[in-house]
Amino acid sequence: MAGNWKMFKTPAQTKDFFAAFLPLVAESKHCEIAICPPFVNIAAAVDAAKGSRVGVGAQNLYWKNEGAFTGEISGPMIKASGAEWVIIGHSERRQFFGETDATVLERTKAALAAGLKPIVCVGEMLAEREANQTDAVLTTQFNGGIAALSPEEFAQIVIAYEPVWAIGTGKVATPDMAADAHRTIRGLVNAKYGADAASKVRILYGGSVKPDNVKGLMAQPEIDGALVGGASLEAASFASIVNF
Ligand code: PEP
Repeated sequence: MAGNWKMFKTPAQTKDFFAAFLPLVAESKHCEIAICPPFVNIAAAVDAAKGSRVGVGAQNLYWKNEGAFTGEISGPMIKASGAEWVIIGHSERRQFFGETDATVLERTKAALAAGLKPIVCVGEMLAEREANQTDAVLTTQFNGGIAALSPEEFAQIVIAYEPVWAIGTGKVATPDMAADAHRTIRGLVNAKYGADAASKVRILYGGSVKPDNVKGLMAQPEIDGALVGGASLEAASFASIVNF
């Protein structure tokens, strides 16, 4: 269960969140939990999460280790700041910051080389779903952004299926719709990496997951967890998702 805080919260607010959140998930041993705050809050989050089962992640990284790349942050920097996870190819990065399948692949390789665990996002836009293009889009994104990983690299990634029309809109995919897309993704994994990899890969659903809809989604065997935006910003709400 991963929380994507997007561009919200300061270091002080991060500290307050963890103080409220950790007691609520102290007994939650059924899943891994990660919080992905903005870069500037990673140190505060790592410090606040110390001794707990909650991991910390970044929301992006650049694929070079260092250099004259003003404004960018590298995998080794994120790793050294104590984070374990990194979200890659979020639809907001694809929509607003020019992220492509090719850069998703570069970032994923760089994250793995730095010892980070990538959460690689895929998902279709509304017009693509309405044009029955969902499977085609997922196939293109998988082939362009993931399939060039070696089997050893692939074994370390988590995939997040995030239909763009469901992100931050309050429109959640039905459990059946999400499960169908997860089946498509698992089929692509099966074709490229084999049945064992397909059964082991964790595929998270993301898109308006809330305390009142998480149970139905998680009842689908295809859905291994959730990537949560808005509802991860408040401790009680994200804890109730974790403890679905
Ligand atoms: C996200 O940011 O990945 C996300 C799914 O956002 P929300 O839960 O707010 O739709």
